[in-house]
Amino acid sequence: MSDFFAPEVLLRPDLRGLTPYDAPVLAHVVKLDANENPYDFPAPVREEILSLLRNDQLNRYPDPQAGELRRALSVYTGWPPEGIMAGNGADELILNLLLAFGGRTLIATPTFSMYRIHAVIAGAEPVAVPRQADFSLDLEAITAAAEQPQTRLVFICSPNNPTGNVTAAAEVETVLRSTRALVVVDEAYQEFCEESCLPLLDRHPNLVVLRTLSKAFGLAGLRVGYLLADPAVIRLLQRVKQPFNLNRFSQLAARAALARREEFREPIRRIREERERLQTALAALPGVTVFPSRANFLLFRTPLSADAVYRGLVAEGVLIRNMHGPGLEDCLRVTVGRENENRFFLEKLKLVLGGAV
Ligand SMILES: *Cc1c(COP(=O)(O)O)cnc(C)c1O
Repeated sequence: MSDFFAPEVLLRPDLRGLTPYDAPVLAHVVKLDANENPYDFPAPVREEILSLLRNDQLNRYPDPQAGELRRALSVYTGWPPEGIMAGNGADELILNLLLAFGGRTLIATPTFSMYRIHAVIAGAEPVAVPRQADFSLDLEAITAAAEQPQTRLVFICSPNNPTGNVTAAAEVETVLRSTRALVVVDEAYQEFCEESCLPLLDRHPNLVVLRTLSKAFGLAGLRVGYLLADPAVIRLLQRVKQPFNLNRFSQLAARAALARREEFREPIRRIREERERLQTALAALPGVTVFPSRANFLLFRTPLSADAVYRGLVAEGVLIRNMHGPGLEDCLRVTVGRENENRFFLEKLKLVLGGAV
């Protein structure tokens, strides 16, 4: 490194305290850390993707507006294509919302870390509004903060990552009525709970519903997210959107997955069934508290420190998520895997927690 060139002095001062998002990549582990769909990608969908790929003009830029995909998403959601934007993962759309609307941004915490990270990157002002002890919204606090005129955005994740609970549409509606800010409801896990705020879109132009194909549809590797909103909101978001944000391959794969979405029904049903089994088994372990979940993961607290449990499990070949931050002390999040993976995880967790369990 040269003596007279120090890139860190060039870094924007407001990024100096930001810790980048990082996910460990470990070989030979049962991977239950990223809320992915654990089942093999459905063969008929894979075949459909390959046949579309065979005829695709890879030398051409992708459709910047992802027109065909948005029409498929419209059929799936019942919301018109002009009210839909597709993104390179829901993550990109979170960043775009913050780049376009920025400013004071309320985040119902504890929750998905990317709202805060993207807020900082976009130069916005993230404000945590803590949830109650059972992780339900603190409606009074959030409406009081939302009605302040400086508030531009409100992020509510439902089912909430990492706590697993759903915010009822009636509560979201109370927040929508309290504010002129945009209220973003992140429904990344909607297919696992079947509740949605989508029916509120018609009468609340300040609602944005965020979704992804990364979880229930098993497309995490291809990065496809979308948001549903009033067409006027979509038009404003165009100003910050990267022109060719969603590549051709991901667009065609997402279309194939949506066209054959019945292929995902059985895997989703199995994940939900396994979730109930895993929840019961975790609750039966002495000293372990497990929080009820409507998603494809479970949050639990153990009598040992989360760091110790996390490291112990990694040493035994199981990777889960070690949670940090207010409200999540000594909590870990495990993704619901296949039956044999869940059994392996439970065995190793008992081992780590000590022979007494
Ligand atoms: C996984 C996840 C996302 C990100 O989805 P991508 O489409 O893979 O970027 C968004 N929100 C929440 C709450 C998630 O858990």
